[in-house]
Order: sequence, then structure tokens, then C-alpha cells
Amino acid sequence: MSNLVVLRRRMVEIGRLMYDKGLIVAAEGNLSVRSGGHSFLVTPAGVGKGSLRVQDLLEVGVAGKSPAGLATSEWGVHREIYCRRPDVGAICHAHPPWATAFAVVGRDLDGSLLTETARFLPRVPVAERSLPGSDAVAESIVPLIGNHDAILLGGHGVVAVGNGLEDAFALLETVERLAQVTLLAEMADGKCCLPEGAARSLLEK
Ligand SMILES: [Zn+2]
Repeated sequence: MSNLVVLRRRMVEIGRLMYDKGLIVAAEGNLSVRSGGHSFLVTPAGVGKGSLRVQDLLEVGVAGKSPAGLATSEWGVHREIYCRRPDVGAICHAHPPWATAFAVVGRDLDGSLLTETARFLPRVPVAERSLPGSDAVAESIVPLIGNHDAILLGGHGVVAVGNGLEDAFALLETVERLAQVTLLAEMADGKCCLPEGAARSLLEK
């Protein structure tokens, strides 16, 4: 089996995992993988990534225009990363709800809160909010992508990169878990609770 066939199958599998795990809904998100020196496989726009077929995947060169079926703005983010990070072999973009909540309010994730992430993911920064579908989305990550493997797109979602698809997907999941635990820990610490006696006074009303 050729390497390209293996990559196509793995992309389909990871698209399904992203959907099944609730990291995307409908036709959200996208994936890409470096299939050769300057060649890439990319998921098409407007297609549910949970039901992708291997023949749906698009081939594109990093210097080339976006092929039909691929939104320019989406490929723009991936192209920007591949150009600036030759070590990156794959990219996952999704809208996982816990992490996206941080992206919406413009709040970085603090990886030092968890022992598992403290060393390899000390911070997940938020990029400047930009108009969805515009070139500004790709521009917003430029100041951050050199030093971070995961970025919150302002008001939008998460981009995670890795040497391969498995690495990028694992990082995406980790970012979502970090966001979830951060908010749950704040609730457990009482920061999100109603003031003492508030529930009783509501009942009395
Ligand atoms: Zn998105």
C-alpha cells in the first residue's frame, strides 16, 4: 500500500474521530498533512469531516492556489504554518466547545495547571480576533506559530500542529481537555458559584 493511500485513510479516520468526539459539528474544521516535500492533502470545505471518503481529499502544492472545493481562507492558515514551520507535518483545526469558549473571550489557556501539560504545553495563546473567511485569520497566527504548537483562533476555534496527523490530533484533544479541566477546577474552587445563600433567597421568592 502506498504512503499516499495510508495518509488518505488516516485523514478519513481522524476526521471521523474529530466528529465522534464532539470537536467539530456539521462541516466544521479541517485537516491537512504533508504528503511530499511541497505537496499536501487537505480536507474539502463544506463537507462533514465525520463522513469523509478518501476520494474527497484534495491535493495542493504550498505555492499553488487553493484548488476548487477548498476555501482560500482555510488553506491560507495551513499554508502559513507550513511555510513558517518546516518541522510541521500535519495540522488539525476544529471548534471544540471548551477551548473555543476561551477563544471567544480572548483568554489564554494556562497549561501549567496540569502536571501532564506543564512541560510541553505551558501556554496556549489566543490569536487576535479576525474576520472569519478573510486572509486576516492566517495573519493573526503569524506572531504565535513560531513558538507554539497549539493556538486559539480569536473568537473561532483551535489550530494544533504536529509531526504527523496523530501528533496534531492528540494535541487538539489535549487542548480541549485542558480547557475543560480549567473551567471545572474554577467551578470546584467556588469561583463560578452563586454567592452564599443566593439559592435559598431565590427559592424564598
Ligand atoms: Zn474554523
